[in-house]
Amino acid sequence: MTKALIWFRKDLRLEDNPALDKAVELGLEIIPVFIYAPQEESFKLGKHKLDIGAASKVWLHYALKELPELIIRQGNSLEELKKLIKETGASYVFWNRRYEPFIIKRDKEIREQLSKQVTVESFNGSLLVEPWHIKNLQGNPYKVFTPYYKKIKDIDFGKTCKKHKLKQTKYKSLTVEELNLLPQAGWYKPIIDFWGLEKTNKRSKFKADEYSELRDRLDRDGTSKLAPYLAWGQVSPRQVWNKYINQPSTEAFTRQLIWREFSYYLMYHFPETINQALNKKFRGFNWEKSSSNLKKWQKGQTGYPVVDAAMNQLWQTGWMHNRARMIVASFLTKDLLIHWHDGAAWFWDTLVDADLANNTMGWQWVAGSGADASPYYRIFNPEIQSKKFDPSSDYKNQWLKNQLGPMIDHKFARERALEHYKQMT
Ligand SMILES: Cc1cc2nc3c(=O)[nH]c(=O)nc-3n(C[C@H](O)[C@H](O)[C@H](O)COP(=O)(O)OP(=O)(O)OC[C@H]3O[C@@H](n4cnc5c(N)ncnc54)[C@H](O)[C@@H]3O)c2cc1C
Repeated sequence: MTKALIWFRKDLRLEDNPALDKAVELGLEIIPVFIYAPQEESFKLGKHKLDIGAASKVWLHYALKELPELIIRQGNSLEELKKLIKETGASYVFWNRRYEPFIIKRDKEIREQLSKQVTVESFNGSLLVEPWHIKNLQGNPYKVFTPYYKKIKDIDFGKTCKKHKLKQTKYKSLTVEELNLLPQAGWYKPIIDFWGLEKTNKRSKFKADEYSELRDRLDRDGTSKLAPYLAWGQVSPRQVWNKYINQPSTEAFTRQLIWREFSYYLMYHFPETINQALNKKFRGFNWEKSSSNLKKWQKGQTGYPVVDAAMNQLWQTGWMHNRARMIVASFLTKDLLIHWHDGAAWFWDTLVDADLANNTMGWQWVAGSGADASPYYRIFNPEIQSKKFDPSSDYKNQWLKNQLGPMIDHKFARERALEHYKQMT
């Protein structure tokens, strides 16, 4: 039987996996492989050199555990794929596309090399619609969300592909444990408990029709918590979209999936955005360099209860509510005037749903430097935000460890931030 290597990457699922589906459709014998290559995931974020974040590695460990048939290898992806082609005699290599600029470059090289020996094909498994299909009337990429949203929301994204089973193969594989994805220190244990990563039935119940009412409430469990599953491709956006699109009152929710699309769209069309302000005006912004203030923020010791509660939620669960992400990002970039790079790098390491497109867009949106961003002068007042979005104080009570005095006066900080902004324009 003719064999196909299915190279699993950030698409760790068996349902609605177009690369896998194609191999089944062609009647090929499937050799499923995952190659752990953190050195190929490395990118620069200001002074930070990052690859896979620590919390993401924890998530990856458990995601791989769910696919015991995968052949796991570690090293240089091209070399490992070549070795596997030789070992198995495969004639095809299929994968689902990724969109980070450094991964696009790597995949292009791999495709060129492997195409000399085998048939290589890649598929769209991670987006509703790929970025190059959507342009404005002038033929340029959109920079504003609403017209982009209008353009794509009525597109038929197609049916989800069927679920397939993998068979155990005879080829040599590392164990998940041998990848050493779990850290020595036990900081990640609460994350396992919060997400039930060691249980079989993990996902919480979510009601999309209540989303528009509850999505901003910190003190209610009103969002899907699908982000880490989407980040690692354990579910596809199309599965989520098709599940909710024809239900009443779910537009507020499906719209968020389009925000995810938009972030990938921006990263594809403006790849420099992962490291630089999209709005060039911000590239010379005069950020403060205070490692002690950054540490206080990271540790949830700012003295602003909602900020500190949110940073503790992040530390203990690897996740933070979107409203809280906006509040803490505003506090860091505006009250403390610390570069969004430092916040994005901390999120990258601590979020189980760390996603380069979404994280970049989220930070640039709050900092005011991104496409369609929140204006710089909109500076969140943490106390007002807390009253509005945590009216019962349940969020604060659940996540706040110590009540400290404020590290900076918000009124003063706000004026100072506005002064900085004026100097820039
Ligand atoms: C500073 C900052 C950093 C962020 N970093 C990330 C990140 O690294 N990874 C990440 O997935 N999201 C990030 N977000 C976006 C958003 O906060 C999360 O997607 C959301 O909180 C995840 O929780 P949920 O799955 O319950 O979302 P839900 O509200 O249930 O939304 C469903 C899905 O829609 C997508 N989505 C929702 N809101 C947004 C948004 N604002 N932008 C893009 N996609 C969205 C996500 O895939 C999410 O899982 C960031 C936002 C900010 C402000």
